[in-house]
Amino acid sequence: MTRAWNFSAGPAAMPEAVLKQAASEMLDWRDNGMGVMEMSHRGKAFMGIYEQAEADLRELLAVPSHFRILFMQGGGLAENAIVPLNLSQGGAMDFVLTGSWSQKSHQDAGKYGCARVAASAQAGGFTTLPDPASWQLGADSRYVHICSNETIHGIEFHELPDLRALGCDAPLVMDFSSHVASRPVNWSRVGLAFGGAQKNLGPAGLTLVIVREDLLGRALPACPSAFDYQLVADNQSMYNTPPTYSIYIAGLVFQWLKSQGGITAMEQRNIAKAQLLYEFIDGSQLYVNTVDTACRSRMNVPFFLRGDDGQPLLDPAHPRNVAFLQATQAAGLLQLKGHASVGGMRASIYNAMPIEGVQALIASMREFERTGT
Ligand code: PMP
Repeated sequence: MTRAWNFSAGPAAMPEAVLKQAASEMLDWRDNGMGVMEMSHRGKAFMGIYEQAEADLRELLAVPSHFRILFMQGGGLAENAIVPLNLSQGGAMDFVLTGSWSQKSHQDAGKYGCARVAASAQAGGFTTLPDPASWQLGADSRYVHICSNETIHGIEFHELPDLRALGCDAPLVMDFSSHVASRPVNWSRVGLAFGGAQKNLGPAGLTLVIVREDLLGRALPACPSAFDYQLVADNQSMYNTPPTYSIYIAGLVFQWLKSQGGITAMEQRNIAKAQLLYEFIDGSQLYVNTVDTACRSRMNVPFFLRGDDGQPLLDPAHPRNVAFLQATQAAGLLQLKGHASVGGMRASIYNAMPIEGVQALIASMREFERTGT
């Protein structure tokens, strides 16, 4: 068996130790006579798995007791509807547009209330974060939405905005799908955070929502009951059948994270990995990353190869891009092709990617720059 270095943006590489443990428990979980995906979600065995996972996550992310942790379904995109259904009360919401994912959130929210643009980085091609001091936040805002890590454009908030300091009392909603558990969260600045699991937490199918208790109970009458945060919270995420197997695997990931020293240790590693890759890209003649250095993502590193005229080669079909992907694939480096909407390349280096994987990528990129193969 050979496992390649997998740079997928999601579903993404999993810690090998987690996959091995899941494999060993697939047929019979701890002498229960059945595997986890065959268990009743309300039975004692699965409730134990669920409670452990929730407690471990609360500890890892230092989630304060006045926040509820919900394990839901639907992924990040479904939350683009579920959040306004729960929090907009049919009123106005402010969105900060920093890339494709916040744009999508803004578009969907408009179906449930008045979705305004507080600031947008679109004019600059989504390469920087608008300064919070410039955001246009309405006094009537029900919430302010950001995507704290834009997976496609490779832009990350390294510090969460302090809305109160900006004179805004509305809660901050953040889509942290692609950098959850990669760094600590300043919960004093957050009202609600959501994210799909399939990048840093486990398999697709599980959506994590962490919501301040006082924001529960505000759902619009049209909100499906399975998506009403209050109902989900009151029923310990068992109002409907939760994605049990994904929760179990995420629970194994949480235990793995604890064994690695927790979130601050992961953050240190993520800083080191990202620094290594960005420094290499910045120092090379062939590769370029166009994101403002102050907000480059530690998780998703988009980069372009340059053409003979020095300009970034966006077109995936350009022979140099094709040759690069062939060469890296031959070296055991997979899923480096950039998102179709921006072209070029992207290396996603989530928690499960060790620094050795980044070193292997850099070695291959250096070799390609030197030889063209
Ligand atoms: N938000 C962000 C930041 C994402 O990266 C993604 C998926 N790549 C989504 C939302 C959409 O998530 P899903 O596909 O789980 O609906």
